[in-house]
Amino acid sequence: MAATETVRAGVQPVAEADFPTRWGHFRIYAFEADLGAGLESALALRLGELETPLLRIHSQCLTGDVFGSQRCDCRAQLELSLAAIAASGNGLLIYEDKEGRGIGLINKIRAYQLQDRGDDTVEANQRLGLPADARDYRLPVEMLRWFGVRRVKLMTNNPAKIEALAAAGIEVVERVACQPPALSTHADRYLQTKRNKLGHLLTPKR
Ligand SMILES: [Zn+2]
Repeated sequence: MAATETVRAGVQPVAEADFPTRWGHFRIYAFEADLGAGLESALALRLGELETPLLRIHSQCLTGDVFGSQRCDCRAQLELSLAAIAASGNGLLIYEDKEGRGIGLINKIRAYQLQDRGDDTVEANQRLGLPADARDYRLPVEMLRWFGVRRVKLMTNNPAKIEALAAAGIEVVERVACQPPALSTHADRYLQTKRNKLGHLLTPKR
C-alpha cells in the first residue's frame, strides 16, 4: 500500500548537500524509496541546470569503486563519467545501491569464487540461482522525474539502460560510449561476457 502511494506521489530526496569533488563541484542528493521490491537507495551527483544533461547510471561496486579491483571496469567507468560530466558542466551521475548488478556484495564474492573455477559472470550467477542482472532502473527513472529531466545524453554501453529509460518516457537523444582505455587484462573475460552474453556495445580489444 505504502509503495503504491510512493510511486503516485513521486520520489523525493531525503537529503541534499554541497559536494565538492576532485572532478568538479557537485550537489549531492540522497533518495530512498520502496517501489514495490523493498527499500532501495541511490545518490545523485548533480552539476549544472540539467538541460538535456549527460547522464550516467552507475551501480555500486565496492570491490571496484573502493578497492580498485581489476576484475571489472566499474571504477574506470565511474571516473570516466565523472570527468565527462565535469567537462560538460551539465550532468547527473546516479549511483545506485545495486552491488553486483543487484545480487549483493556477499553473493558477488560467491560468484567470484565460481568464476575462479571456470564460470563466466552469467554462468556463476545461474549456478547460485541468481539472475545475471537484477536491476530494473525504476528508482533512477523516478529520480529523473523529480529533477524534471525528460531528455538525456546517456553514457552507457548497456542497451538495457537505454530501453528502460525509453520505456519510461525519457528520451535518449544520444548514447555516449563509456569505454575506458587501457584496462587491465584481468577484466578481459568479464568484458567478453558483457559483450557476448549481455549485449553490451563494447568495441573488442585489439
Ligand atoms: Zn565492478
